Amino acid sequence: MAKLREKHAEEKEFLQAAEEVLDSIEEIYNQHPEFEKAHIVERIVEPDRIFTFRVAWVDDKGDVQVNLGYRVQFNSAIGPYKGGLRFHKAVNLSMLKFLGFEQIFKNALTTLPMGGAKGGSDFDPVGKSDAEIMRFCQAFMLELWKCIGPDTDVPAGDVGVGGREIGYMYGMYKKLAREYNTGVLTGKGATWGGSILRPEATGFGALYFVENLLKEHGKDIKGKKVALSGFGNVAWGAATKTNQLGGKVVAISGPDGVCELPEGITDEMIDYMLVMRSSNRNKVQDMADKFPGKAKFTAGKKAWSVPCDIALPCAFQNELSEDDAKELKANGCWCCCEGSNMGCQPGAIKFFQNNGVYFAPGKAVNAGGVATSGLEMTQNAAHLGWSGEEVDAKLHWIMKSIHEQCVKYGRKADGTIDYVKGANIAGFMKVATAMVEQGII
Ligand code: GLU
Repeated sequence: MAKLREKHAEEKEFLQAAEEVLDSIEEIYNQHPEFEKAHIVERIVEPDRIFTFRVAWVDDKGDVQVNLGYRVQFNSAIGPYKGGLRFHKAVNLSMLKFLGFEQIFKNALTTLPMGGAKGGSDFDPVGKSDAEIMRFCQAFMLELWKCIGPDTDVPAGDVGVGGREIGYMYGMYKKLAREYNTGVLTGKGATWGGSILRPEATGFGALYFVENLLKEHGKDIKGKKVALSGFGNVAWGAATKTNQLGGKVVAISGPDGVCELPEGITDEMIDYMLVMRSSNRNKVQDMADKFPGKAKFTAGKKAWSVPCDIALPCAFQNELSEDDAKELKANGCWCCCEGSNMGCQPGAIKFFQNNGVYFAPGKAVNAGGVATSGLEMTQNAAHLGWSGEEVDAKLHWIMKSIHEQCVKYGRKADGTIDYVKGANIAGFMKVATAMVEQGII
């Protein structure tokens, strides 16, 4: 860590993600001299390669806009590079390196053969028209297409990139490559190679993980109050599944504040989350304006101020601080599972773990998204389409298996489970073993 800090001093998010993993694996690493001999730690923290490029495009006023584009191909020990694209004004190399690094271990946990990657741009979708989104996606793909391929690197969505953006990018890819190559992107539309359940998969998978965790501790989700942050793809899937399982969503949030939902979230509200997302306004207040009396908006507050049993961060990294964790606990929260990548700050995780709040990290909880991307790749390679039921059954099995891996490597002497350690070790063992077997490259 000292060497890494010196080399990449500015990359705060990446250093945070690396420190968590290295802390977790230290003990097991020292029990494996073959890892030490192959310098696995020094190698695993450096990406295989990074592409950075200029993305120039023309906005609706006819002005030229210039953004930065990136693809971090982090590790391909167990399969082709795989991971989403994030479009957000705060995107920089540190953010994409942290996400790519997390993706290595998350993808290893899914049981599917996928390496780790991430990409994106500092393009800000907020306030952009549909035509601007299309022109940006096309310009982005003009550079990216040479770096990717169905057996090389398979991007998908992440914050700011959903089905619409994947469609525009795929259209441009196809035009440039002059090949259909369905498996080059995942999260495609259901009529042209997309997995029927991919939009729901991250949120559904998160709830399946929560179900497994609760069962392990003799509890269930029926009647439990769930606070969600965000109103994007992950929060939408999580809200849908919470309702189906008999839980009650009491809050959703946005950068502008929180919407309290005293009677829970209705199907109409869940559908409206999709409208809010595609409007590119990025305001959760829109929910309260649409459903007055049923959704109460408070500016500047987070979802963590609303009393709940279970907190599910579903928005952005570091969105839940130690103070938020204390407030949650004081208000009765006893379980926190990350739907977002690295949603909790290190102080919050420590607080949860030291105060009897069940905590599970994003790389286990939200892995259902990329797992279903992996299933989409399988369907594309076989030129097949599976029904929603088939994909859901596989997703159930995968989330159960991820939970089992966390328990296997995370069970402590006192019987409790450290899900952070469990997820990190389980993912690391698979990747490190493959790296040793493939020699020094
Ligand atoms: N962006 C998602 C993640 O963080 C999904 C990646 C994918 O489907 O490739 O895992």
